[in-house]
Amino acid sequence: MFKLKNYINGELLEPASKHYIDNYDPSRGVVYSLIPDSDERDAEQAIAAAKEAFKTWSITPKDTRSAYLLKIAAIIEEQLHDLAVAESLDNGKPLHLAKTVDIPRAAANFHFYGTGILHYAAHAHSMEDTAINYTLRQPVGVAGCISPWNLPLYLFSWKIAPALAAGCTVVAKPSEITPMTAYLLSEICIKAGLPKGVLNIVHGYGHKVGNTIVSHKDVPLISFTGGTKTGATIASIAAPMFKKLSLELGGKNPNIIFADCDYDKMLSTTMLSSFANQGQICLCGSRIFVEKSIYGKFKDDFVAKTQKLVVGAPMDDKTKIGAVVSKSHMEKILSYIELAKQEGGTILCGGKQQTVTGEFENGYYLQPTIIEGLSYDCRTNQEEIFGPVVTIMPFEKEEEVMLYANSTEYGLASMVWTQDITKANRVAMNLHTGIVWVNCWLLRDLRTPFGGVKSSGVGREGGFEALDFFTEPKNVCVKLK
Ligand code: NAD
Repeated sequence: MFKLKNYINGELLEPASKHYIDNYDPSRGVVYSLIPDSDERDAEQAIAAAKEAFKTWSITPKDTRSAYLLKIAAIIEEQLHDLAVAESLDNGKPLHLAKTVDIPRAAANFHFYGTGILHYAAHAHSMEDTAINYTLRQPVGVAGCISPWNLPLYLFSWKIAPALAAGCTVVAKPSEITPMTAYLLSEICIKAGLPKGVLNIVHGYGHKVGNTIVSHKDVPLISFTGGTKTGATIASIAAPMFKKLSLELGGKNPNIIFADCDYDKMLSTTMLSSFANQGQICLCGSRIFVEKSIYGKFKDDFVAKTQKLVVGAPMDDKTKIGAVVSKSHMEKILSYIELAKQEGGTILCGGKQQTVTGEFENGYYLQPTIIEGLSYDCRTNQEEIFGPVVTIMPFEKEEEVMLYANSTEYGLASMVWTQDITKANRVAMNLHTGIVWVNCWLLRDLRTPFGGVKSSGVGREGGFEALDFFTEPKNVCVKLK
């Protein structure tokens, strides 16, 4: 069976323990490769390599750093098909999604920061003829980058690319549930000739590798994307060490649909914002609030369209809903559907596991599920489910839907559908989320700040915000006379 390796100091290495973790193909429910079960020895080796490499990478001209990132982007583009197949196999997502979103976006991340760093500038503050202050933005040091399983290479590269561009070196840990494209990225970095130690990728569990990265004195900043509970654990370790922290956490995003929306556009986009990637995107709109006058029509149309979504093998072109990422995640989602029933919800469609015949019969497939009849403050509507499950609820007044929308502990993203620009701006202003999409969803400009409020996170990724995170501003005050 294929054994993945760690990428430490430019080399592909076995874990010190020589132990491996099973890596599942969720579309078949079988183990298809083995992941290093790394521990603190591997993580410490990687941190030492990154610390040494920082001495030169941090003073390497930005044009040179840029050239490496652009080379990596180019190789990802060349290998797009193979990477997409690997991502789909590892995660269960439809191949066409990996081909059109995940892998192109991973290349774009390297391209964006490979060029972005060339345009990154700092401020100067003149005190007329007394002094001039200028700000140096210097790379902070070894960055710990920890990412989740839902958009594996896409989110991994969203951290690594700005860190490397800014002159930090990196010790990165992909999710142990979807490690394959991170492993392939290490091969790509070797091919691109990235100097040794600049990027290190250590595979394994969060409580071993992740914890060593987070608690190590030589890692002064942590960029983490994952669950809110893990984020809280990381913050509790890193904050007393005064580390810089960027936390991108969970969500329970509202999709607010007013009667005056462009109905057809809203409906087709709501299909995607509800069920793309089996609903396993932190930005999916899992709570759908619909103005009462169009609630009945929306319900009928939305249910009819959802029932037509093909649940099937990820590599099949017809598939719209692939496998969810793991058996335990599937069971968690099913338990939330049971909870919704106990809370008085009606399952309008879906609600069950789906069997896909043949070699896929042991895969982790779920029917896309729509639930109605729940109160906005029940657990089903407050807790993150992170699967192909949405609730729909009618509302009459704007104030009422704002109460519903802002009622959760989360504040990542929201969607607003209306043709009334004044209402759209007012609602956007009053939503407690880091991102608001008006009449669209997942439309991304990589220059914009990305992140959440409340329990959805701390800090922002994207654009120069990420370069600000991976650099430390230093003010130099020069007296003129
Ligand atoms: P998770 O928190 O279980 O794991 C994320 C990563 O953290 C993994 O690599 C894991 O191994 C590691 N980890 C676990 N325990 C750790 C510890 N004690 N110390 C250090 N690292 C540790 O999350 P997940 O299940 O992989 O991902 C799903 C979650 O991610 C959802 O809540 C989703 O909303 C969130 N997410 C958020 C965003 C965002 O941008 N806000 C994007 C994608 C996913």
